[in-house]
Amino acid sequence: MKTRLRILFLSSEVAPFAKTGGLADVSSALPKALYDMGHDIRVIMPKYGCINDRKYVLREVIRLKRVKIKLGENDHIACAKSAFIPDSKVQVYFLEYKPFFGGNDLYVDPETGTDLPDNAERFGLFCKAALETIKLLHWEPQIIHCNDWQTGLVPWYLKHEFNKDPFYANCSTVLSIHNMAYQGNFTADNLELLGIGDNYKDGISDLKHHNSINFLKAGILTADKIVTVSQAYADEVLTDPEIGAGMTDYLKSRNKDFEGILNGVDYSEWNPETDSLIAEKYSHNKPESKAHNKLKLLEKCNFPTNDNKPLIGMVSRLAGQKGFDLLQAAIKDIIALDVRLVILGLGEPAYHDALQKICKTFPKNVALFLQFDNDLAHLIEAGSDMFLMPSRYEPCGLNQMYSLKYGTVPIVRSTGGLKDTIIDYDQDPENSNGFSFTPYNKKDMVDAIKRAVAVYNDQKNWQKLIKRGMRADYSWSVAAEKYVKTYLSLVNNKKHK
Ligand code: ADP
Repeated sequence: MKTRLRILFLSSEVAPFAKTGGLADVSSALPKALYDMGHDIRVIMPKYGCINDRKYVLREVIRLKRVKIKLGENDHIACAKSAFIPDSKVQVYFLEYKPFFGGNDLYVDPETGTDLPDNAERFGLFCKAALETIKLLHWEPQIIHCNDWQTGLVPWYLKHEFNKDPFYANCSTVLSIHNMAYQGNFTADNLELLGIGDNYKDGISDLKHHNSINFLKAGILTADKIVTVSQAYADEVLTDPEIGAGMTDYLKSRNKDFEGILNGVDYSEWNPETDSLIAEKYSHNKPESKAHNKLKLLEKCNFPTNDNKPLIGMVSRLAGQKGFDLLQAAIKDIIALDVRLVILGLGEPAYHDALQKICKTFPKNVALFLQFDNDLAHLIEAGSDMFLMPSRYEPCGLNQMYSLKYGTVPIVRSTGGLKDTIIDYDQDPENSNGFSFTPYNKKDMVDAIKRAVAVYNDQKNWQKLIKRGMRADYSWSVAAEKYVKTYLSLVNNKKHK
């Protein structure tokens, strides 16, 4: 008989409630896949001001009206509400503590692009509160699955503060790292706010990173298992100190407990056959309807609709990792290929300025939307011919997998998850599903786009390429099975202790 595991999934963002990037997609899709496999899975996330109680039908939970969290000298009283991930039976608890999470922003002040000043305290509190919440629920998970630095203190607290509490004695922890570059690195004076004083000698060395404290390091050193989101990225962070971003040695010290598991796609959200956010549904058996989506997207961009120039889409956080400096350097050469570009993005102000300049210089070829817009993200997937991801590094990347399903041919830099999912047309024509380039330079990127345009002009082969991509299956079931295997290894290990 299959073991039904009790799994607590902790994340700072979960789609559709609050999202800045792929973490939210994963934090919705993986719990749903685990639920469908029969596991008892519950999610805890912060209740940000931007989460609409009414829209998502958040309900009070009597037992969780007063969640008391001791952080340093301060006793904070939070509460938790609950709702289900839409169209699922996965229960989410929203930790409500207005002084820390009442604002709309998750981590960064969008005006200045700088981190919120109290992030250490905010997420320190979230970690402790999650542990208090399950205790109040009298629900004892076997696995606590943490995600990224925001939850990095959970295994740390379990090891250094709650280690004598029998309630947590059977909990094992998994930390998934979705991006090694975001670490929760704070000045050491935050130790006091977190209530971590001299009595935590061992604990402090697990937390200190040079002269700072680092939540991700704490998670890496104290979680029972560490996962990152593709095999190629797992290899890269161990071998390339730049991609490892200061965590390489810590990860090496945990090598036997560290693995790469490629994220999946939630096809209930990202599938042109069922997607109600696009102009017309379509499938690999009926790809003609994709043209109607292109038409709608061209209209939205104020581009002419009566020619057949290739349309390249980009949907991305505007951050250094995503290759917008390459795009900036190469834009003239890209436009010279007689293509059009639609970019949807939000992020660092410097990239906003740079992209606005590009758009002003090439208004006939570049359409820019500086916003977060899920509906438009879907239309761009459906209406574009190609999808560009020239990332400097990419832990997994979801958009290239969404693109495959939408018959939108990915052009990617071969790194991390992009390397694990995209097979280049010229390297392996029979099995290819896109175009890729490896050296991070303008020439190789332009060359990849040029090669894509050449095949686009040879529609017979283009259609074959599209169909290969659309038929591929990147659903979550494969990844969820791998996570369960990891969970089970921990549960069995506890039993034999
Ligand atoms: P990352 O997690 O690094 O941001 P991923 O490719 O893993 O990158 O996931 C990005 C997710 O965020 C995708 O679902 C993508 O559609 C979405 N996204 C990014 N920027 C925007 C935006 N401006 N508007 C709507 N969706 C966006």
